[in-house]
Amino acid sequence: MPIFEYRCKQCGHVTPFLEKAGNRKSHVCEKCSSKAMEKLLSTFAAKTKSTSGLSDSSCPTGTCGLT
Ligand SMILES: [Zn+2]
Repeated sequence: MPIFEYRCKQCGHVTPFLEKAGNRKSHVCEKCSSKAMEKLLSTFAAKTKSTSGLSDSSCPTGTCGLT
């Protein structure tokens, strides 16, 4: 499931939100309840992509890249 991080423009607190398809609920800061949130680039996804190109750790069987 994709997790996106949003930073509060009011207090700067970063809150991760789990976003499902069709889920359009508004993002509210968990600290100050402000709705002024801006989306951050997913650093988690960027890291896992660049670290290893051969072995995909997200593959449950380890055979996904062998086709
Ligand atoms: Zn806030």
